[in-house]
Amino acid sequence: MINKVILSFLGVFVFVNFTYSQSIQDIINQVSNANLQVSVVELSGEQVAMINGSMQIITNRIQSNNDLAADYIEERLAAFPNLTINVQEFNTVGKNIIATQLGQTNPNDIYIVCAHYDSVTTYCADDNATGVSAVIEIAKILSAQCIDNTIIYALWDEEEIGLQGANFYAQQAANETNGNTRDNILGVINMDMIGYDGDAPGTSGDNDFDIDVRDFDNSLGIKDDLLNILNTYTFDLNPIVVNPGTTASDHARFWNQDYSAVLVGESWETDDQTPDYHSSNDRAEDIDFQYMTELTKLVTAYMTTKAGLITLDNTVTQTASTLSSNDNSASYQWYNCDSNASISGATNQTYSPISSGNYAVEVSNGSCLELSPCVNFSVLSSEEFTTEEIKIYPNPVTSVLKIDNNIQTELTITINDISGKIINTFKSRKEYFEIDFKKNVSGVYFVNVATKTKSSTFKIVKE
Ligand SMILES: [Zn+2]
Repeated sequence: MINKVILSFLGVFVFVNFTYSQSIQDIINQVSNANLQVSVVELSGEQVAMINGSMQIITNRIQSNNDLAADYIEERLAAFPNLTINVQEFNTVGKNIIATQLGQTNPNDIYIVCAHYDSVTTYCADDNATGVSAVIEIAKILSAQCIDNTIIYALWDEEEIGLQGANFYAQQAANETNGNTRDNILGVINMDMIGYDGDAPGTSGDNDFDIDVRDFDNSLGIKDDLLNILNTYTFDLNPIVVNPGTTASDHARFWNQDYSAVLVGESWETDDQTPDYHSSNDRAEDIDFQYMTELTKLVTAYMTTKAGLITLDNTVTQTASTLSSNDNSASYQWYNCDSNASISGATNQTYSPISSGNYAVEVSNGSCLELSPCVNFSVLSSEEFTTEEIKIYPNPVTSVLKIDNNIQTELTITINDISGKIINTFKSRKEYFEIDFKKNVSGVYFVNVATKTKSSTFKIVKE
């Protein structure tokens, strides 16, 4: 609650979309089979979708007639945080949808995850509503994270008539004429047809998929990274490395510019591609969504690894004289929670308040930013209570902490845990009262007892 007050006061709502401290496994686990199914049936025109404010059917994605599909993709991506969306029109009807999530540490180091959204005929669920749906799902998950390197989520047009959209993009990226600098694209993963697996579960060939690669720039390194990820985390997938890989999809346009790229998709190499290729029989009902989910998880893991997750620690440690942020590699700004104001000059990892009150620290890395909870801090006054005035017992405590108040003045009691987080605060003027410690976990607590003129902090151990 107090966090929100401070954030609104400072007007920095834009930064609060990030969630932190997730492992790569946590992120892999977010890939949703159900989300992928919804995207595939909407993109392939099996079901109506909300586009431009009304429910509509994407009747097909053929190049001259796929603006509705482009609008759908653009709107889906625009709903996610931290993305800048650019519609790149490269001829009268061709347009790529490009969503950029800027890296906070190395914004010029770029990784691209992509798929083509155009089709040769109606439906074309596998080719390539599957790849587009995977890119949207990855964008949904990763856009909530704060990252070191830039990720571009790209959906290409006019793949089926000569890899036109990707060709335009890759040429622009590599262009060094007229003072342009070559984009530092470090890895491209193209997903084209990731939904067909004809082999029965448990039989030979089940879960086969192809990694198509050739020796351009560090393309072989991407293949190695994917194989390492397959060994590090658990997937129901069997990789088939195809080298020299096919040039019949968008990644080849990046090879042409000597960028590192691979294709990930169902296995043409083991003759396990959809029998309904480039036909209107290529329908969502024939998609193996479990297999498609596994491939999406694999590419999610790769993109997350390459993006580099930035985690910020927003906890605070308190000693008798200082507050200290537990994040060792951030920028800091301390706040007075009671006045909702930043403290001028308080930009070090530690801060020593000059008056008692509630304090918070904002930790930031680039534009990634997180605020700590407010921590109650008592400046040790010369006037502490004598043991005759205030008595706290037993210590250690197991269930009930007892306080004798012999000064007959209202006391403000604040209980902090070891990290400085306030777990309870209340006032009492009774001569004797009890604090229930039964529900508190074992450990050290600081119990501050204060009047207008005196203050004492007691270190209490809960057993
Ligand atoms: Zn395709």
